[in-house]
Amino acid sequence: MRIVCLDLEGVLIPEVWIGVAERTGIDALRLTTRDEPDYDKLMTRRLEILREQGLGLPMIQEVIDGLDPLAGASDFVGWLRERYQLVILSDTFYEFAEPFMRKLGWPTLLCHRLEIGADGSVDGYLLRQPDPKRAAVKSFHALRYEVIAAGDSYNDTAMLSEADAGILFRPPDNVIREFPQFPVATEFRDLQREIEAAAQRLDDATA
Ligand SMILES: [Mg+2]
Repeated sequence: MRIVCLDLEGVLIPEVWIGVAERTGIDALRLTTRDEPDYDKLMTRRLEILREQGLGLPMIQEVIDGLDPLAGASDFVGWLRERYQLVILSDTFYEFAEPFMRKLGWPTLLCHRLEIGADGSVDGYLLRQPDPKRAAVKSFHALRYEVIAAGDSYNDTAMLSEADAGILFRPPDNVIREFPQFPVATEFRDLQREIEAAAQRLDDATA
């Protein structure tokens, strides 16, 4: 039995905060984990900016609703779900992902949650658990599933390492250099090929 675990942002959808920065014209929201490696500091700063600008969840969801999944992503999700169990493991929040999930046909998503005030203000956030992507793969293994995983960045490498097969999809050059053990795919058809090759290797290993 096999599960494919996919990262969300940078694989199926654009980076949400960059999209929100572009649509609102608030450049300070472009900050990413590359500018501020401490995730808690980064999120605290983002929530401060939202508060300063008077941006609540309904406004942000409206912005996100105007963004589309990456070209080819919906077909790729359909292709996967005909062949494997698909679980999306993401560091985004359910409240932000919802408009994209609607467009992708509501695949299973494990991510985090925002704390929303009665007036729609974004008051805080709740991380599901520490090291969530690795923990999910470990749990699927405990349920006797083999796991093929794909993601684009640093926050995916623990998931790729823990999986039976890990694939990088459209990663930045520094991630390719630091993690040469993972094959790299740049188009969805390449990713399909890598997933099928990984599945074949797992079949051969158990034959
Ligand atoms: Mg990503």
